[in-house]
Amino acid sequence: MSSQIPVKQIDPNTDGPSDNNKKKPETVDLYASRKKIYVREITGLFQRIRFFSLMALMGMYFVFVWITVDGQPLILFDLPAREFHLFGATFYPQDFFLLAAMLIISAFGLFFITTLFGRVWCGYTCPQTVWTFIFMWVEERIEGSRNKRMKLDKAPNSPEKMARKSAKHGAWLLIALATGITFVGYFYPIRELLADLFTLDANGWAYFWVGFFTVATYLNAGWMREQVCLYMCPYARFQSVMFDRNTRVVSYDPNRGEPRGSRKKSADREELGLGDCIDCGLCVQVCPTGIDIRDGLQYECIGCALCIDACDTVMDKMDYPRGLIRYTTENELEGRPSKLLRPRTFGYGAVLVLMIGAVAFTIATRVPLGLDVIRDRGALFSFNSRGLVENTYTAKIHNMTDSSQEFQVAVSGIDSARLIEGDEPVTVDSGEVRSVPTVVEVDPAELEDINTTISFRVEALENPQLSAETESRFVGPRPR
Ligand code: SF4
Ligand code: SF4
Repeated sequence: MSSQIPVKQIDPNTDGPSDNNKKKPETVDLYASRKKIYVREITGLFQRIRFFSLMALMGMYFVFVWITVDGQPLILFDLPAREFHLFGATFYPQDFFLLAAMLIISAFGLFFITTLFGRVWCGYTCPQTVWTFIFMWVEERIEGSRNKRMKLDKAPNSPEKMARKSAKHGAWLLIALATGITFVGYFYPIRELLADLFTLDANGWAYFWVGFFTVATYLNAGWMREQVCLYMCPYARFQSVMFDRNTRVVSYDPNRGEPRGSRKKSADREELGLGDCIDCGLCVQVCPTGIDIRDGLQYECIGCALCIDACDTVMDKMDYPRGLIRYTTENELEGRPSKLLRPRTFGYGAVLVLMIGAVAFTIATRVPLGLDVIRDRGALFSFNSRGLVENTYTAKIHNMTDSSQEFQVAVSGIDSARLIEGDEPVTVDSGEVRSVPTVVEVDPAELEDINTTISFRVEALENPQLSAETESRFVGPRPR
């Protein structure tokens, strides 16, 4: 049995004034099939800002994958080698907590910005927005303006229609393929990947992931568009809990706009008893999610500000002041002052500053050298020909610097402790973990217990600052 509720109908594809207010609520099925949204292209201040922001982000995405610094990739998540190259630094699985901390910083950064300015992330920087913007731009260049696209879709099949549709989908697929290859290039050196892909030498997983990201980009940005924001993105659902009466979001000013109604430019709106909204519907036609901002704050609004530019264009034509739709707060709309700094901005800001400080300190003081010493569990201890007690260990030296280094292992903690194996300098390549068999001898007269703590230290011969230390146990006979 299908549930039914009365709803107010909004048609983003209607030209000219809407008659929403005149319609009585009608009863429709709760399930509604998707209505294609034909977005009208608009220019304006916020679209210029969006254009530069989106182009910069897309440029970084396509360019960073090709950049190398001192022979190291700028960004590469080299999973087989278990190395992560990020802006000149190399991280290893043991640095995973740093990655987790960076993700937490990103999340708090997002919460902080959302509390202040609503969904600016969605409108200006989200990859779904970036790629949808590019796909729409291509669509407009190939199929024409909004009205032409609507006409083309309604028109019967013809060679021209087929040619335009094929060109559009071909261009979309090429962008999606470039996106997919680039994405995989962040995990598989891009130059090798390209060569391997085209000579059919790449590993099967490389083809799979390139195909997966190509199809995902094509479907998300070409076909699903606003559906991803409305139904798939979890952030759209919970971001409203970060909003309050002081959050600056894209809003329509009903005090100024209502009662809405069409009129001639020369008409006196006071005489007509109308507000500034001429009910042209342009703000709805440019909205990529197909909503009417005049209905108030809605979770579908991605904060792209297209409706601000559209309405400002109308206001300019009517010689009315701009800003009928603008970035504002609920308090300001009600004539109350807004506060920028408030408990939740302080809270998110404080966590953000603390986390950034902690991560910066950890990275600044991080020593790119790992030392792990494992005691041989096969033999507790043995006596050598000189009557000294011997313990066997394996020292694992992990060189996390970008160059090969020569290291020296040393022991301390017991005065007579001396390395009789593993005391030779050992060369460890960048990123390599080298196991060094090590034997330590100790005078038994010096042992006061069965177990004594012993320290191992490893130091780079050419750079003594590059050193690491760890403790282990030295096991001997029971003292008499
Ligand atoms: S808010 Fe502005 S763009 Fe929207 S219908 Fe009114 S006048 Fe037109
Ligand atoms: S209502 Fe305005 S800001 Fe919100 S998604 Fe639509 S066009 Fe963008």
